[in-house]
Amino acid sequence: MTLRAHILGAAAGGGLPQWNCGCENCNLARKGEIRSQTQSSLAVSTNGIDWAILNASPDIRHQLAQTACLHLSNLRTLPLCSVLVTNGDIDHVAGLLTLREMQPFSLFATGAIHDVMSNNTIFDAPNASVVDRQTIATGQSFDLAPGLLATLFPVPGKVPLYLEGDEVQTDLIGDQTVGFS
Ligand SMILES: [Zn+2]
Repeated sequence: MTLRAHILGAAAGGGLPQWNCGCENCNLARKGEIRSQTQSSLAVSTNGIDWAILNASPDIRHQLAQTACLHLSNLRTLPLCSVLVTNGDIDHVAGLLTLREMQPFSLFATGAIHDVMSNNTIFDAPNASVVDRQTIATGQSFDLAPGLLATLFPVPGKVPLYLEGDEVQTDLIGDQTVGFS
């Protein structure tokens, strides 16, 4: 099996330049003197035809437009077959709102991450009649894309900033933040 991967974006949350940052790097990126960077996301495939996206960044519209292997092959045939979300951070789920035009794909996440999204009805926008929500337990193998078997594993993390309560635990390990192998 050959794993093909395209780095769609490699910047931390906010990207480069970040909208509210006036640091030297952000200013250089605004002037075009260094390259701007979109927020982290990865596309993977084994056959080069069917692609899965790991985390839907707020920059996904631009990232899809910039990546030839993810372009439509005809009027409505998109090579995107699934999106895997590894936590509920805005940086990882906001792009789902861009993928809302009755376009079928599978949306993989753990139960805890699906709960974060289903508790916020704006995430009903990728319509459930065509976007198939699949709940994956950690340790369970599943087909992320044709020929691409994946497993999720818990990694240390904290709840998304927008869900923080008065006391923030930064060393949570469970199914709210996961890695993928
Ligand atoms: Zn900055």
